[in-house]
Formats: sequence, structure tokens, C-alpha cells
Amino acid sequence: TDGSINLRDYIRDVPDFPKPGILFRDITPLLKSPVAMSAVIDRLAAPFIGQQIDVVAAAEARGFIFAAPLAIRLNAAFVPIRKPGKLPFESHSLTYDLEYGSDTVQMHVDGVAPAQRVLVLDDLLATGGTVDACCQLLEKCDAEIVGCAFVINLKGLGGEQRLSKYKLHSLLTYE
Ligand code: 5GP
Repeated sequence: TDGSINLRDYIRDVPDFPKPGILFRDITPLLKSPVAMSAVIDRLAAPFIGQQIDVVAAAEARGFIFAAPLAIRLNAAFVPIRKPGKLPFESHSLTYDLEYGSDTVQMHVDGVAPAQRVLVLDDLLATGGTVDACCQLLEKCDAEIVGCAFVINLKGLGGEQRLSKYKLHSLLTYE
């Protein structure tokens, strides 16, 4: 049953990926277990049941994996946020600064309507840059961010501080 599942058992540590010195938290063992995935979707949804979530939005690619079943669970729409040039229809863009250079995220112009209540989802919170960009793009469209949910929170990389204006919910924390 849900309570007996320790999600930590389904995360694999991969040293030196994608670069030397980085310890990558690999979620693919979790994706192989329907029982663990059901628990993840239940636990991601729990604080937002009854919160009138209209839209679950997520950035590609790993965010999509959790956001689509979570949207179904919350009876909400799933709206993808993508790298430039991937979405087929007219899109809004938001460009944000990186340590070196910049990055852009896009969403269809009909992705959210003004005042819609949005839950932003990603697999993992590190610096918070990805979800911050998604929130800025959604707020540019006058959406209301109800919260940001993560399977994994990598503490100490500034994500919680960067997203401090939002309600954050994460299932697993690594120090
Ligand atoms: P942030 O934008 O918060 O710095 O980084 C989070 C993004 O990078 C997420 O979209 C996530 O998919 C990816 N990411 C960074 N490090 C890891 C990791 O160790 N494991 C996984 N699964 N994703 C990571």
C-alpha cells in the first residue's frame, strides 16, 4: 500500500553525470514501478485536492511524465512548457538568464486563461531556475500560481529561496 513505499528506494544515484562532480538523481527506477508511481501521483496531488486546480503546467521533459497523470488525478488540464521551436501553435515566450547566456521557454497562447489556477510541476528542484521561468511565463498570461510541486528537492542549491513567494511541495529531500 501507499504508506509502505519508501520513494528513496526508487531513486538511483549516478555519480559524474552529466559532468564530473555532479551526483545525478535518476528517476528511471521509479518510472518502472506502477505501484511507486501511483504513490507519487497520490502524494503530489494530496495538498491540492479541493484547491480548484484548473491547470497542471510542466517543463519538458521529465516534468511531463508526472504532470500528465497528476492533471488527470486533479481533474485539471495538462499544459506543456517547451524549449523554443517545439510547440506547433502560436506561443508566448519568456527568456531568462543563466550563469552563461540565456534560455527561453514557450507555451501556447491558449495554454492558460487569465485567473486560471495553476499548479507547476517538475521532477526535481535544484536552483529553481526552470520552475521560476515557468511561473514567470504563466504570470505574464495572468494565471494564478497555486503552488509548485516536485518529486525531489535538492536542498542547498537555492531553489526554495528563489521560489519563496510560492507554496512548495516536495516528496523527497536530499541534503
Ligand atoms: P533547476 O532549474 O532547479 O536548477 O534544475 C532543475 C531541472 O534540472 C529539472 O527540470 C530537472 O529535470 C533537471 N535536473 C537537474 N539535476 C537533476 C538530477 O540530479 N536529477 C534529475 N532527475 N533531474 C535533474
